[in-house]
Amino acid sequence: MRRRKGPRGFRPLERDELARLTFHGAAGEVTGSSFLLETAGSRVLFECGMFQGGRREEARNRRPFPFDPAALDAVALTHAHIDHSGLVPKLVRDGCGARVHATEATCDLLRIMLPDSASIHEQDAARENRRRERRGARLVEPLYTAEDAERALGRVEAYPFDERFALTNDVDVRFRRAGHILGAASLEVWVRDEGGFERKLVLSGDVGRADEALLKDPEPPEEADLLLLESTYGGREHRSAEESVEELAEVFRDADRSGGNVIVPAFAVGRAQDVLHTLAELEDAGRIPVRPVYFDSPMAIHVTELYPRHAGCFKEPIRSALEPRDLHFCRTPEESMAINAKRGVTILSASGMCDAGRVVHHLKHNLWRAGTHVVIAGFQAAGTRGRALVGGARKLRILGEEVLVRAKVHTIGGFSAHAGQSELVAWARPMLANGARLALVHGEPDQRDALERRLHGAAPAPILVPESGDAVTLRRRGDPVVFAPAAAV
Ligand SMILES: [Zn+2]
Repeated sequence: MRRRKGPRGFRPLERDELARLTFHGAAGEVTGSSFLLETAGSRVLFECGMFQGGRREEARNRRPFPFDPAALDAVALTHAHIDHSGLVPKLVRDGCGARVHATEATCDLLRIMLPDSASIHEQDAARENRRRERRGARLVEPLYTAEDAERALGRVEAYPFDERFALTNDVDVRFRRAGHILGAASLEVWVRDEGGFERKLVLSGDVGRADEALLKDPEPPEEADLLLLESTYGGREHRSAEESVEELAEVFRDADRSGGNVIVPAFAVGRAQDVLHTLAELEDAGRIPVRPVYFDSPMAIHVTELYPRHAGCFKEPIRSALEPRDLHFCRTPEESMAINAKRGVTILSASGMCDAGRVVHHLKHNLWRAGTHVVIAGFQAAGTRGRALVGGARKLRILGEEVLVRAKVHTIGGFSAHAGQSELVAWARPMLANGARLALVHGEPDQRDALERRLHGAAPAPILVPESGDAVTLRRRGDPVVFAPAAAV
């Protein structure tokens, strides 16, 4: 047994090692992104994401970090999605005093999303505790509180795209546009030794589609020694944007004939605004009838209000692009509940995977009606209610009741915020052609393995498919990237 030196979860580097990167999440799965970089002079955490998808994942969020948060020198995030940022408040509460670096728009989104996440955890704990009190069980604490989120936001520091800056004394970083959602970046990371010798790591973050309507296209870095590539849709191709728009239009024409409601569970950041924009365009072109659109997510409304502040992130002027003609913003719970009585309307509501938020109520009130349409326009993690709907579930348990699914459920892939297989390959190809070693992260095994098969031959050496706890080392001499499975670490 090697004797542990220094803080928990860190080990000194060996002679030829320039850096070690340990995969603590999003390895063999989509959520819980967390990659720990150790160099001779610093310790950096890239991403601090929440595990999502079910009870087991939620339990993982409660475990202590596998390293001492107080020992970190810096944190950097690719984007604001909770599976990349959602544990930052816990990290700060558990002792991390380092700055959290992100793009300007990501910082603005974090200011909306982290307090929202905290309030969900506080409400969950309060609900659970009411049950526990009745049976005399021990009470639970929320995963983190609004106060923890505020403290975390006090550590956040904003950077522009495309400027290299020093993250620590021996690690530099540059944010590159990744499409995906407002502010999303891929990270170029340079690690340097005292003699000025450098190796470069690239974290793809989540890569968006190349032909998004609103956001500027992803700009892949040109070279890397090691590339961590997401593989959320590594085995799938999305339909083209235009095909998806036509599919959506067809749903609305159908719903107009049947008089039923259309429910679009949409991620409050990105998908909700994309769907809004598409509806506005379809109405303008006369391709769908104008019908009332209820935009029922306070968070999505806040995010939409943020868009004009980040005009540089968009292809076109953004201000008027997000307004269907008969649009209603629902901010209060009363406004949301009033929708229950309405027919022939469109309801855009979060959460995107149907596990929380106001959309759960709308599903309860509408799924059992035969004329209802549900449009699933984003990724649904295994174990979520959204995944069950996509999988053809005939009934669902919602808020303590069994609800029949008589609604038509449509999965429209073209609105995905994630690149499909060919787009991921095209994004990574220049780096692979320049000799980058490849590790596939952020994908469930079937998607990841499909991407591995597709890239086999394009990548210069065996493709790494790390599991949680595995590590790679960047070396000065010999093979620049050496895999260290968890058992050997
Ligand atoms: Zn994301």
